[in-house]
Amino acid sequence: MTLDQELAAAVAIARIGLERLRDVATRTADVAPHAAALQALRKGVLEAVGETIGTIAVSVTEVDGDDEQIERVTELLDEAQAYVEDSTGDRLDRVLEILTPMLLACEDCGQKKPEVRVMPDPFSTAVYPEEPDHYQMPLCPPCATARFEES
Ligand SMILES: [Zn+2]
Repeated sequence: MTLDQELAAAVAIARIGLERLRDVATRTADVAPHAAALQALRKGVLEAVGETIGTIAVSVTEVDGDDEQIERVTELLDEAQAYVEDSTGDRLDRVLEILTPMLLACEDCGQKKPEVRVMPDPFSTAVYPEEPDHYQMPLCPPCATARFEES
């Protein structure tokens, strides 16, 4: 594999992941998947991009060449890393602060999280499985599991 081919393959893999994030976010008009995808972008992708730039910045100091030029490159890469993590990340944090109050609150713990779903009460569903109608309640996965286990 040539260097170009290796880089093209790496970029293609990264693009597939980003397209999946975009698909998750935009599939419906619900706020939850939008917030969850942005959170994943913030925590998973921006951190990884920053780390990659940081690693290359450290490695570039080993490159043979004009020390002053290399130092300038390192400085710029450090700035680029900071922009990704702080500037872009900070904007996404603020977006998430605005979106979070629009999320459903879990009826048990009261937290507003993207993974809260309205579901038939896991407690009554487990105790009275033959009942056709169960109370519909918004729950986060840990609280849903806890209610089920209480039954
Ligand atoms: Zn909960």
